[in-house]
Amino acid sequence: MAFGAQYLSDFRAARVTPTNLVLNVTLKCPLKCSHCCFSSDMFHGGHLSAADVHRCIQQAAQIPSMEIVHFVGGDPMLHADIVADAVALAASLGLRAGITTSAFWAKSPARATASVRRLHAAGLTEMTLSYDDPHAEFVPLRFIANAVTAARECGLLLRIAVVVEANSKITAATLRADLGLQDEPGINIYETVANSTGRADGTDEETQAARLHHASAYRGPCESVLHTVTVDHEGGIRPCCGVLPHYDSLKVGHIAEEGIEAAMRGAADDPLYRWIRLEGPVAILAAITADDPVPMRVEDFDGICTACDRIFRSPELLARVREAAEARRPQIETCEILLAGPPAAATVAAAP
Ligand code: SF4
Ligand code: SF4
Repeated sequence: MAFGAQYLSDFRAARVTPTNLVLNVTLKCPLKCSHCCFSSDMFHGGHLSAADVHRCIQQAAQIPSMEIVHFVGGDPMLHADIVADAVALAASLGLRAGITTSAFWAKSPARATASVRRLHAAGLTEMTLSYDDPHAEFVPLRFIANAVTAARECGLLLRIAVVVEANSKITAATLRADLGLQDEPGINIYETVANSTGRADGTDEETQAARLHHASAYRGPCESVLHTVTVDHEGGIRPCCGVLPHYDSLKVGHIAEEGIEAAMRGAADDPLYRWIRLEGPVAILAAITADDPVPMRVEDFDGICTACDRIFRSPELLARVREAAEARRPQIETCEILLAGPPAAATVAAAP
């Protein structure tokens, strides 16, 4: 094979490098947060079975770049038995395992300790707690404190995600103070901004307008697409960890059909996902509507998943974006090669 063709072939193979498997175990949740991108509540039916979860983890473990399995919801702790069993399987296959939860289950120190110890014994390595004004309507702060204590006792890598809006009472700083963690910089308490998707799309106009002006609103390239693979609660495979409803148009396969590796290989050849990775969906929408009577402007979006929400929920807009992406395929590939830099020495040495 000529050097150029060898490099191109290696480069294309290297595009399929997901590192994170996210399992959307269920969309059911005991909370009903006003900013929930999945509009979760206790009326959502269905969840991944233990057999489904095993299948996902076994398929993911076949991908050499895969590093971690993360259990999310809804709230995955509604299916703690399935999660504990799956964490053990992931650990046995050399994958780290994490969970994101509201800590609704940490009603007492004893219950929190028992739940966390069980997962830690199975192999759980990290825990992300979600807490902010909407969560606080349903979960008392002491539940978070109980979960934090239990996670620290087990030595888990701990993060607390705080969604902030213009008038939020709870911020990363207030939460750190209220939990007495001022002298614990190792516990990562970080702020994120809501995207107006799912139930957050129904928030009042003033709040949505404020999101557009938030200093942390992100409108750049997507770092999640093709690096994260999500399996939804019905086994659908998605090529990112987007915070938007589960549109069929963003599904790239199913665990019972082609499986994760083949689905992600197909996604990695799709110019739309590659364009989203290079420039982000906000820039894409601004570019393709530039000559429309009412163009979409970068400042119209409070986040990149809000832009994808616009794209993937509208068949007409999706068709326009797909057509533009296909037309740009050669430029996208050129940009990818330039950004990837020169071929590795080993590739050069192997060339005839
Ligand atoms: S944001 Fe999280 S905790 Fe709140 S309703 Fe949605 S899934 Fe449940
Ligand atoms: S911006 Fe689009 S591709 Fe990226 S994570 Fe959000 S929904 Fe997925």
